[in-house]
Amino acid sequence: MGLEQIKTRITAAETAAGRQPGQVRLIAVSKVQPPDRVESVLDAGQRVFGENYVQEAQGKWPAWRDRFNGVELHMIGPLQSNKAKQAVQLFDAIHTLDRMSLARKLAQQIAEQGRSPDLFIQVNTGDEPQKAGVLADELPGFLASCRDLGLDPQGLMCIPPEADDPVPHFRLLRRLAQENGLPNLSMGMSADFESAIAEGATHIRVGSAIFGARDYG
Ligand SMILES: *Cc1c(COP(=O)(O)O)cnc(C)c1O
Repeated sequence: MGLEQIKTRITAAETAAGRQPGQVRLIAVSKVQPPDRVESVLDAGQRVFGENYVQEAQGKWPAWRDRFNGVELHMIGPLQSNKAKQAVQLFDAIHTLDRMSLARKLAQQIAEQGRSPDLFIQVNTGDEPQKAGVLADELPGFLASCRDLGLDPQGLMCIPPEADDPVPHFRLLRRLAQENGLPNLSMGMSADFESAIAEGATHIRVGSAIFGARDYG
């Protein structure tokens, strides 16, 4: 597919939704991709990237940050509390704040390091038992507890159940963000980013449609 085609499709989706083109932030999800693919996307000017694993990101990004100005890194995978320190050092945004134990660790690290990544609360919009995320009903209380710790989450993130139509999940996330006064919505991936844009996504996370299929070999 490639970066340019995705950007064209984003602009078209923004326009179709009556939104100002250029509002949606494209996060290029580079997890597990071969370095040459990531470098060609960096060469093409993309600067916002998403990673799922702290250790993998730590191995790859410091060198690229030295070579390419203005790189912005987003953590979009499950975050273990014992990786909070490295995550706060490395990432400019964390999309997977999903429990109080992690909130406490992040608050501690943000205070110690004087660095504040943008925070998104992950919501388990499908009530899936195996999936991370705060339940919709628990969101107001969770947000209040985060604020008590001095954290200031500015958005919500979801990964709809694979078998579902994603649109009702995007709508639920949008409604929850509105009700809770949060401006940012991280939703939409390769298969559904255009519907996410139609439903108000501010951040879309697109991997395989830019880089090609992932090989977990
Ligand atoms: C891997 C991943 C993506 C990107 O998925 P694609 O289908 O390749 O676009 C987006 N969001 C999260 C949370 C992911 O783990």
